Amino acid sequence: MSRNDWKAATKLVHGGTTRSSHGETSEALYLTQGFVYDSAESAEARFAGDEPGFVYSRYANPTVAMFEQRMCDMEGAEACLATASGMGAVSAALLCQVQAGDHVVAARALFGSCRYVVEKLMPQFGVASTLVDGKDIEAWKAAIRPETKVLFLESPTNPTLELVDIAAVAQLANEIGATLVVDNVFATPLLQKPLDLGAHVVVYSATKHIDGQGRCLGGAILSSADWIDENLYDYFRHTGPSLSPFNAWVLLKGLETLPLRVRQQTSNAEALAEHLVQHRRVSRLLYPGHPSHPQAILAKQQMQGGSTLIAFELEGGKDAAFAFENALDLVRISNNLGDAKSLITHPATTTHKNLTQEDRDALGISSGLVRLSVGLEDVDDLLSDIDQALAHL
Ligand SMILES: *Cc1c(COP(=O)(O)O)cnc(C)c1O
Repeated sequence: MSRNDWKAATKLVHGGTTRSSHGETSEALYLTQGFVYDSAESAEARFAGDEPGFVYSRYANPTVAMFEQRMCDMEGAEACLATASGMGAVSAALLCQVQAGDHVVAARALFGSCRYVVEKLMPQFGVASTLVDGKDIEAWKAAIRPETKVLFLESPTNPTLELVDIAAVAQLANEIGATLVVDNVFATPLLQKPLDLGAHVVVYSATKHIDGQGRCLGGAILSSADWIDENLYDYFRHTGPSLSPFNAWVLLKGLETLPLRVRQQTSNAEALAEHLVQHRRVSRLLYPGHPSHPQAILAKQQMQGGSTLIAFELEGGKDAAFAFENALDLVRISNNLGDAKSLITHPATTTHKNLTQEDRDALGISSGLVRLSVGLEDVDDLLSDIDQALAHL
């Protein structure tokens, strides 16, 4: 059996592992900036690329390489470069492939910092951008210009858990010769496979489910070997968004338990969604795995599960949302997500506070909306905590 035939859980435990002469069980942590050479000739050959081996940890490091290979095995990608954070991954994946005069189309519902990169940063360097309603394929088509080079989206979106039809946008990208970059953080590598749906590049914040235990930041960019070589490799080596070996080691350990965690967190989220949808204090529930989701059919087509996140709206706006959050005992207030600990946030005053009111309205981020990242606690304890907090309203 070749390692390509391994199932996901097996790849996430064994993929990418290389052992030193000590034969350690757990992946070794190579906490080193550089490498020494046996001779001046060897250094020359490594720099020329004639001899395999590491040169400098900004370019590549053995522990980071294990993480990158395990991510490739999981995603079914040829190549991966790991980054210091999710934003390191997003900004590198977008900036490495554009130049002044190019144009980018992105779905409007983006993680706040991604929106900054597309809306503010790229135009500063002469790269124009258009934001569209990601749900509407006609809006994508209408935004295309002859100089459109990159399409960018996340699905499900933060925080309203809307979906974008990845296969349809990928087809459009192919028709115009553009690159589709998908931020797959909310879906996780287990619940959605953007490359299989036709995307060209996938990016992750490994800070979220991949660590999943609130410890460190990290990110990853995955694509074909050709795309990485042609677009990203030099940019990456010379701008330095590299992942630290220590964080790579933590994230390798995170990947080993990713399927167990995502499966349990999704199952907890499903149970909470089922409960919240019929609660009289909840005016709107948004959960891709529930039949009430406006895109439930698309969710079934492109996702293998309903997500570990739930968004819902409480009647009574900000006051009700704050009262609810403050009454929670087990669920903690935090803007992180994908963690073993259940976390709740009020997007309008935290993650999405920098948007204008008009933008928030366009995205459906009302003052009563809360986003719940469902953790690994016993689901009965989560249900009772949420119920006692709703009873405060
Ligand atoms: C968190 C997040 C990012 C950024 O990741 P960091 O690791 O915080 O830099 C990008 N996209 C999405 C969808 C995220 O949730």
